[in-house]
Amino acid sequence: MYDVIIIGGGPAGLTAGLYASRLGAKTLLLEKLTPGGQITLSSEIENYPGVCDVKSGLELMMCWPAQAQKFGCEIKSEEAVKVQKENSHFIVKTPKNEYKSKTLIIATGSTPKKAGFEGEIEYTGKGVSYCAVCDGFFYKDKIVAVIGGGDTALEEALYLSKIAKKVYLIHRRDKFRAAPVTQKKVFETENIEIIFNATVKKVFGNQFVEGIILNLNGEEKELKVDGVFVFVGMKVNNELVKDLVELNEWGEVKVNLKMETSQKGLYAAGDIRENSVKQVVAAAGDGATAAINALKYIEKEEL
Ligand code: FAD
Ligand code: NAP
Repeated sequence: MYDVIIIGGGPAGLTAGLYASRLGAKTLLLEKLTPGGQITLSSEIENYPGVCDVKSGLELMMCWPAQAQKFGCEIKSEEAVKVQKENSHFIVKTPKNEYKSKTLIIATGSTPKKAGFEGEIEYTGKGVSYCAVCDGFFYKDKIVAVIGGGDTALEEALYLSKIAKKVYLIHRRDKFRAAPVTQKKVFETENIEIIFNATVKKVFGNQFVEGIILNLNGEEKELKVDGVFVFVGMKVNNELVKDLVELNEWGEVKVNLKMETSQKGLYAAGDIRENSVKQVVAAAGDGATAAINALKYIEKEEL
């Protein structure tokens, strides 16, 4: 029986693993890929405080697993496929094993959806981005395109309009689905040019993005842009716990300030939880909060 099982080895899960094991808890972390999480896909990270000259997300995350293991956190390369609660304990199943724990921390993150244009994957990190807070700074006084018509696309277009020289906001229909108040702000922002009824066919460039080809009212149109920000929705990785905890209308796990979910003993941390700002530093903070409170819970309940 483990004190804590953590599912997901991104910044939230690895920090939870570090804190739980360092506080003396018997801790298991399950990660289906290589530990590190989605930041390992990023070629740049400039906003993790105290770490000033790392070259990439991969480099930033390099020592996190070993730091947790140093205090006894077991890390296994296994995918959790089922989670059940039995009395006061959790059972986590992987394709080959079954593990038991007193508490569970779910830190499986969320995944930005792809728009599906030619070159999208090839140019990710080379001009195609899914995070304005992370990458916006690289486009100071440059020209960017934002794809999407929801709240995220419009809010991020407004954010980028304060950094970039010009923002093309490209939407596949002639109406946004974002809140009217956000739409009003976008319509009133001089350096945002809205292009309705358009989809991106392809992105082109050499080493980095240099432009996009649009399908606009049935015709092709070329736009010179330095970057493309894709905001066409998020997939919250909540499958394992969606029948155990309360979710909000977007499928994010509801938590309180202790990272407690509606299920006793089950905590959520990082991008999977409601109102996450989806940043490494915030995910790490959540992981620490969840682990500390999970151990307090074990003590209080005398498990
Ligand atoms: P994740 O990092 O998504 O980790 C979740 C982990 O859970 C993954 O490793 C996944 O494999 C694992 N997992 C999922 N399901 C299972 C399962 N069933 N069993 C086992 N394991 C499972 N943030 C910044 O602060 N600064 C930046 O500059 C920045 N740049 C970014 C650039 C890119 C391209 C991307 C995609 C994101 C960027 N972010 C940045 C955001 C940051 O990466 C996330 O906020 C952060 O990684 C969230 O951490 P997390 O631990 O909640 O989730
Ligand atoms: P969303 O509401 O699902 O919007 C996705 C947008 O992308 C839609 O406009 C959609 O077009 C477009 N789209 C989807 N697939 C596409 C594709 N392949 N190519 C081009 N365009 C595509 O996603 P979101 O904006 O991330 O928001 C998710 C949820 O969070 C929403 O419920 C939103 O209200 C909420 N949210 C709220 C706030 C806030 O309250 N401040 C902030 C952010 C997000 P169509 O419109 O044609 O479908």
